[in-house]
Amino acid sequence: MYHPLTHLRTISNPNPHLRPTTEHCNAVRCNAATKSGKKFCTNHVAQHDYVKEIEKKIKAREAELKQVDANAELPEDSHLISEVRAMLWQDGRISAPGLSRYINVSSEQATALLRYAEKRGLCELKLSKRSPKKLVANALFPNGGNNLTLLGGLS
Ligand SMILES: [Zn+2]
Repeated sequence: MYHPLTHLRTISNPNPHLRPTTEHCNAVRCNAATKSGKKFCTNHVAQHDYVKEIEKKIKAREAELKQVDANAELPEDSHLISEVRAMLWQDGRISAPGLSRYINVSSEQATALLRYAEKRGLCELKLSKRSPKKLVANALFPNGGNNLTLLGGLS
């Protein structure tokens, strides 16, 4: 079956006879050749600056989840609150179970995160009319233009 990504290799190397310049891995005691000018080979990919940056963010997120579990305050530039804000921006409203699925946190953590977001004025929380045990957050800021409830219920 045709898929446009199948042909990316051909697009990225328009002249197969042109020899790529060979770079070598920058890791200590590794001299493996790398492709496409990469600084590290596949065995040392974790030494890339961007991979380290991502690892740092993952660790900070894990630390924040522990703070949520301990019912402690979250930092002003919280990763988790940014994720909640992004979900609210995208959909205008989100339930605790939905948030739990989308950002891969427990339902207790999702509920706590929605309460943090409410405290910061990002949303208002209500219990769902259809399933009264389900907490639903409505964004209190304008989003990409598809949240009509924010405009006073135009739909
Ligand atoms: Zn290497």
